[in-house]
Order: sequence, then structure tokens, then C-alpha cells
Amino acid sequence: MQLVSYSARLLDDGLAVGSAGNMSVRSGDLVAITPSGISYAEMRPEDICLVAMDGTETPEGNQETPSTETPMHLAIYAATKAGAVVHTHSPEVVALSAAREELPAIHYAITGLGGPVRVAPYVRFGSEGLAAAAVEALNGRSAVILRNHGAVTHGRDLAQAYDRALLLEWLARTYRLALSYGEPSILSAAELDEVTAESRRRRYGERRSRRP
Ligand SMILES: [Zn+2]
Repeated sequence: MQLVSYSARLLDDGLAVGSAGNMSVRSGDLVAITPSGISYAEMRPEDICLVAMDGTETPEGNQETPSTETPMHLAIYAATKAGAVVHTHSPEVVALSAAREELPAIHYAITGLGGPVRVAPYVRFGSEGLAAAAVEALNGRSAVILRNHGAVTHGRDLAQAYDRALLLEWLARTYRLALSYGEPSILSAAELDEVTAESRRRRYGERRSRRP
């Protein structure tokens, strides 16, 4: 199952250690989510949990407990059209979360996340309060950084949500490197809008040219 193979990648890509972080995929009215407290190295497809949008576990589900961050995943599905959600404890993002209010645009690739990424205020892991804070800070973005905790990205499918987690970690790293030189220059909202418009135009052109 996709969730198991991507969970293994979390470790390989350095986005999480042990059993930290979690991910889910929406399928109709149900959400498939990684279980709580099972290390990624030992996770098997039958360990994946199925929950309804109201948080109740489905009767045909397994004995595992769904991820402690299930309320946050469900709140994001309720507030967006996301098809998948990835939550990481990746080091560059955690470091930034403790020291900054947002991840600014030092590179235009940040338009892939909807623009500068906000840091949501600290609320205890697994709480409804954290779910609400994450949803609020996500507004108009596909990524949010959680103060003293980690990050969440979403996308139309798991591949896109996961790629965005990697992009977010890379952007946090490049920002830290830029800070080591001094005060980095930041792209303006107008410059970012121009990038977004150009990306759209090119995607549209690609789709047209692929048609017979
Ligand atoms: Zn977490």
C-alpha cells in the first residue's frame, strides 16, 4: 500500500525518525491513516487504519490505534479539497518553527506551496486546538509549519503531498543557508504572482500541445 511505502521514505529522506510524523489519504467519506506508535520500519499494509470523517473508526478496521494527529488530518480534509495529508518532524522545519513567524520567499519555488508558509502557534500534539491552528494558518497554502513541532503539507494525492513536504524542508534549509550570509532578499508578492501566472500559462500550453 502507498501509505506504507511512503512512510518508509519518510525515514530514508530524513523527514522523520522512529514513528514520528504520519500521513493519510482520503477515499470518499473515509480516510486511511498510518497507525500510532508503530515504527515505520515495521509498518505493514494491514496496520493502516480507516476512520470516518467524524473520527470514528470503521467496524471492519484493524486493532491498531489511528495516528494521534487524526483530528488534524480530518480538520484539513474538512476545510480543503486535499486528497492526502503528510505530517513530518523534519529538522530544518522544526528549527525554523522555533525561531521564525513564517518561512519567507527567498526562492520562487515557494509558489508551489501557495506562497510564504506561516508558522501556526504552539498547541499540544494530538489536540483539537492544534487541528484548528493548523487549518487557520493553512488558509490559501498547501503547507503549514507548527511551532516547536513540525510541518503539514497536503495535495491532490500522496505523491504531491509528499513532494511538497520535501520542497518545504528544502526551502527551510536554503533560507537558513541564506541567513548565514546576512540578510537575504525576499521576493515580493508581485514577483510571486508573476511566477504563479507564468507557471499556469506554461502548464496550460503543455496540456494543449499534448492533444492530438
Ligand atoms: Zn507530530
